[in-house]
Amino acid sequence: MKKIAVIGTGYVGLVTGTCFAETGNEVICVDIDSDKVDLLKKGVVPIYEPHLDAIFHRNIKSNRISFTTDLEMAVDFAEIIFLALPTPPGEDGSADLSYVLAVADQLGSMMKEFKVIVDKSTVPVGTSERVKNKIAEKASVQFAVVSNPEFLREGFAVDDFLNPDRVVIGTENSRAIQIMTELYQPFVTDDHRLIVMDEKSAELTKYAANAFLATKITFMNEVANFCELVGADVDKVRLGIGSDSRIGHKFLYPGIGFGGSCFPKDVNALVRSGNDAGYSFEVIKSVLKVNDKQKVRLYEKVKNHYNDLKGKRFALWGLAFKPDTDDIREASSLYIIDELVKAGAEVVAFDPEAMSNVKRQIGDIITYSDNQYDVLDGCDALLIATEWSVFRNPDFDKMKLKLKKPVIFDGRNIFSTEQMVDLGFYYNSIGRDLIK
Ligand code: NAD
Repeated sequence: MKKIAVIGTGYVGLVTGTCFAETGNEVICVDIDSDKVDLLKKGVVPIYEPHLDAIFHRNIKSNRISFTTDLEMAVDFAEIIFLALPTPPGEDGSADLSYVLAVADQLGSMMKEFKVIVDKSTVPVGTSERVKNKIAEKASVQFAVVSNPEFLREGFAVDDFLNPDRVVIGTENSRAIQIMTELYQPFVTDDHRLIVMDEKSAELTKYAANAFLATKITFMNEVANFCELVGADVDKVRLGIGSDSRIGHKFLYPGIGFGGSCFPKDVNALVRSGNDAGYSFEVIKSVLKVNDKQKVRLYEKVKNHYNDLKGKRFALWGLAFKPDTDDIREASSLYIIDELVKAGAEVVAFDPEAMSNVKRQIGDIITYSDNQYDVLDGCDALLIATEWSVFRNPDFDKMKLKLKKPVIFDGRNIFSTEQMVDLGFYYNSIGRDLIK
């Protein structure tokens, strides 16, 4: 059993704290947002993440996890202090380290004995060094700083945390390596790997992984766009290339661009880090450019189809940047909505989890429906921006009755083109035959 403090209770911090409690540790989660802490204390999980609710409540009942706004009390309690703080994009695209460094600045004077400070936030190479220096300015005890980048995916966060492909521990401090190895031992079974390396390599591992995945998605999006021009079918090409074990089947699904809180900001931050070091990352600069265009590709398709969008009414299925999350950061849906509204169209949206977040961000420039069928009432077409499971096998007869015309623009390729022909829909998807 270890005593742990997790600073920041967002998607990463809350999952980290809960999963460490689940493996028998005692965890205090700290957040600066007192409303959030009040909710957590009342047993309310403020984010949607599958399976989190159940293990959260189990560990609250067992008194293994608690919540506070009191950083000093948490630092006093814990041997290991995780930083799961935001690193949003700054104005120039680089990672804004102000949250991480502000907390590091407070830690030094609060520490009364040896502590391991673990950075779980995604940060540029060299940040551990900066955190170390910041803490050292006020510290009178020994401490170690570890880079432990997080690879969990929203929507699968609990499963990913409990069964990670790998755990990266970046430190050269032998005491910290021992403590971190013991802590992660329950998650690192025979099949899994705990990889110990230096801090800088650990920091870069996270950015390199995200940039590579963003590149894979974008490559496939370009292949899909080309398929549409030459009459090839991206589903067949995907199967054909994915069967090559050097390529693999994962992350080859074309769509309307990557979004979320990580890929766009991390790829931008890597480009920026490259610039700072005098290196120009040409591949990932292009990835960002192509992705910007792909995000409005569904809008372009709608525009090309109707020409004039004034007075048209569109139903939108999906607002979250991907299924199984309520996260809308950099979601393609928001870019599509923006273009449709600018072009004079009306938008009615439905999402199983993300509607309140969107309402908070863009308010009433669109309307919302709490039912995936009612949203279709009187609409000229349905647009699909997120591949939620509930959309995959719908009542097509009901949809036909509600839509003015059976027209679907699908940005996530959730239906088969053959099925849509049989059902008599006009079906426009990404990189596949256009069904008229
Ligand atoms: P988030 O915005 O959901 O949560 C951050 C939390 O930190 C918020 O609750 C905020 O109130 C709190 N906070 C801010 N300043 C604080 C302070 N001084 N003291 C205490 N709490 C404070 O962020 P997130 O999505 O959990 O991401 C955290 C980090 O993890 C980022 O660097 C991100 O890039 C990285 N990451 C995120 C994911 C993901 O899928 N979300 C995956 C891997 C890595």
